[in-house]
Amino acid sequence: MRIDVVSLFPSLVAAVAGCGVTGRAVDRGLLQLGLWNPRDYTVDRHRTVDDRPYGGGPGMLMKVEPVRQALHAARAAGNGKVIYLSPQGRRLDQAAVREFAAGGNLVLLAGRYEGIDERLARLEVDEEWSIGDYVLSGGELAAMVVVDAIARLLPGVLGDADSAEQDSFMDGLLDCPHYTRPEAVAGLRVPDVLREGNHAEIARWRRKQALGRTWERRPDLLEARALSDDDRRLLDE
Ligand code: SAM
Repeated sequence: MRIDVVSLFPSLVAAVAGCGVTGRAVDRGLLQLGLWNPRDYTVDRHRTVDDRPYGGGPGMLMKVEPVRQALHAARAAGNGKVIYLSPQGRRLDQAAVREFAAGGNLVLLAGRYEGIDERLARLEVDEEWSIGDYVLSGGELAAMVVVDAIARLLPGVLGDADSAEQDSFMDGLLDCPHYTRPEAVAGLRVPDVLREGNHAEIARWRRKQALGRTWERRPDLLEARALSDDDRRLLDE
């Protein structure tokens, strides 16, 4: 998969390709990351990338033409659908990330200042997505969130041992609790079932914990999905 990011701070976004799971995805060629800076598409001496809003008021907007040219270049490279990261967009969740990971290439537009000109949104943007109900200073962190969440779902990026299938939200549930060595920490012991090697019992315990945790912390997730008879029994036990 190829993801192109249009940003005034490409070095910030590039950090996502430098380490961990996303770095591995890029190193293995499973994810291609393209970076496009609107500043490279300016024509004036000062390489201006912002402009004043019509009607006055505080703040600046991203200058139209440099962003437009950068988007065209990014699209020419990967032919991806253009996603504008914006607090006004649809709220990102794991279901959306799954669809992105299974879909085609993407172009992510990271805004700065007060954002982009409305006509740019209408002419160039296919979808607007938000990473949550709060306002960031720029879309770079949001773009990195999207790249990271997608990368871990691309086939071959995660090994079996850390398979994304076990993660929270993948099955509409939160993940179960996990333990590593030592066996006791400040008097708190690893649950016996996890040390006894009965894989059927371990799977059953984990499922029950995931159901219980979701019921306690995110009942909305349970309301949104049909439970199997087995899950219902586990939850009632
Ligand atoms: N004036 C805009 C508004 O209130 O809707 C906020 C602009 S914000 C300061 C600058 C840029 O940060 C936006 O253009 C967007 O790209 C990015 N951004 C801010 N919050 C975001 C969020 N929750 N999700 C995704 N992108 C966000």
